Amino acid sequence: MTITTVSNEQLAKEYVDGVFEQLKQQNCHQAEFLQAAEEIFISLVPVFAQHPEYIQANILSRIVEPDRIISFRVAWQDDNNQVQVNRGYRVQYSNVMGPYKGGLRFHPSVNESIIKFLGFEQIFKNALTGQPIGGGKGGSNFDPKGKSDSEIMRFCQAFMTELYRHIGPDVDVPAGDIGVGAREVGYLWGQYKRLTKANESGVLTGKTPGYGGSLARKEATGYGTVYFVNEMLKDANDSFEGKTVVVSGSGNVSTYAIEKAQQYGAKVVACSDSSGYIYDPEGLDLAAIKEIKEVKGDRISTYVNYRPNATFTEGCTGIWTIPCDIALPCATQNEINGESARTLISNGVKAIGEGANMPSDLEAINEFLNAGVLFGPAKAANAGGVAVSALEMAQDSSRVFWSFEEVDAKLHQIMKNIYMDSKAAAEKYGFPGNLVMGANIAGFIKVADGMLMEGVY
Ligand code: GLU
Repeated sequence: MTITTVSNEQLAKEYVDGVFEQLKQQNCHQAEFLQAAEEIFISLVPVFAQHPEYIQANILSRIVEPDRIISFRVAWQDDNNQVQVNRGYRVQYSNVMGPYKGGLRFHPSVNESIIKFLGFEQIFKNALTGQPIGGGKGGSNFDPKGKSDSEIMRFCQAFMTELYRHIGPDVDVPAGDIGVGAREVGYLWGQYKRLTKANESGVLTGKTPGYGGSLARKEATGYGTVYFVNEMLKDANDSFEGKTVVVSGSGNVSTYAIEKAQQYGAKVVACSDSSGYIYDPEGLDLAAIKEIKEVKGDRISTYVNYRPNATFTEGCTGIWTIPCDIALPCATQNEINGESARTLISNGVKAIGEGANMPSDLEAINEFLNAGVLFGPAKAANAGGVAVSALEMAQDSSRVFWSFEEVDAKLHQIMKNIYMDSKAAAEKYGFPGNLVMGANIAGFIKVADGMLMEGVY
C-alpha cells in the first residue's frame, strides 16, 4: 500500500492560491490592489509551510480584507463659485500593531484599488519600522494641479469635515502622500481642531515643525531610502562614493534622496516630474531643484534655464534609459516595467532602491532579482517617512520635541534595523539576498503573531 503524503509546502501553496483566487473573484477590477497582494502572497508560501497555525487561523483571508473602507462625498466651491464634487476615501486596514497609520493621496488617478493597494502595503511597511502603528491609507481623486491656494484650503476643509469623525490620535492618524504636503496637512489640521475643539496634534503627521511637526519628517523618506541602499551596498563591499545615480520624481522623496546621495559622494544626473525628465551629465544642482519645486512650485523643465548643459525630455519612462549604477524610483507606482528593467540591467545598474510605493511592476522585480541586482523593495526602503511620522506622534503626545540630529539618528537606526530584519527573514526562509521576500515575511510575521494573540474577529 502506498501512502501519499502532502508536503507542508504543497499545503501552503494550495492555501495561498485558494485565498488569491477568491480575492481575484471579489476584486476583479482592482488591478493595482491585486498586483500588490500577489507580490506579498507569493512571498508568504514558505511562511505558511512552517507555520500551520497561521493557516488554521486563516490569517491571510483576514489580513487582506480591510477592517473597513470609508468612501465619502467632498463638495467644495472653486474660485468661480462653481460647486465641485470629488470622492474621498479612508481605508482602515489593520490596527493590530497600533492606530491605523498612512498618508492621504490627492491625485486624479485615485480610486478604491489604488487606496487599497497602498493601505495593504502600509500594514507590512509600518510593522517593519518597529513602531506601534497599524496600516491605513486615504485620499481623493481631487487634482491639486492648477488649483489656487484658497481652492486647496477649501477642499482640505471639506475633506476633513467628513473625515474627522473617523480618525483620532489613538484611532487613525493620516499624513501626506502624493499631492499632500505640509500646506495641506496644515489646512486639514486646522479644520480638525475647529470641529473637535481638541488640540490633539497627534491626529495628523507631516505638520510643520514648530506647529506640532517633527524636524526631519520632510527629509525622512528620501534620506531613509538612501540609508537603506547604503546598507545593501555596504554588505556588498560597495558604497555611493563616485556612483552615477538616477532618481525619478522631484517631490519630497526624490529631492531628499538626491540630497543624501550627493552627501554620500554620488553624482545624481537625472530626475523628473509628470511631464518629463531632466538630464544633467555634470550632476544635478540641488539648490536649483529646491528653488523650482519648493519655492516657485514650477515644472522641472525650467531647470534648463539654470543649467545650460542640461536637457529636458518629455515623457517619463525615458529616464530609465540613462546609464547609471544606482536607480532610485521615487515618483509613483508601476513606473518601471519589464522593458525598463532590462534596459537598466543592460546598462549595468548595480542597485535599485524604491522610494515610491510599488514603482516596479512584478515583471521588473523578477528581472532585477534574476540578474542579481541589489533590490531594496518599497515596503522596506521607503519606510523612513512613516517611521518618522511615528516619531512625530511620540513627540506630540509627550509635548517634547527633538533636534534634527536626534530624529535623523533614530531614522538611520530604524532603516538599518529594517535592512537586518529583512535580510535575516530572507535567509531563514530559504531565499538569501531576496529582500522582497524578506521584507514581506518579516513584516507579515509581526502582524500575524499579533492577530493570533487577539483571537478571531
Ligand atoms: N505616504 C507615506 C508612505 O507611503 C507616509 C505615510 C505616513 O507618514 O503616515 O508611507
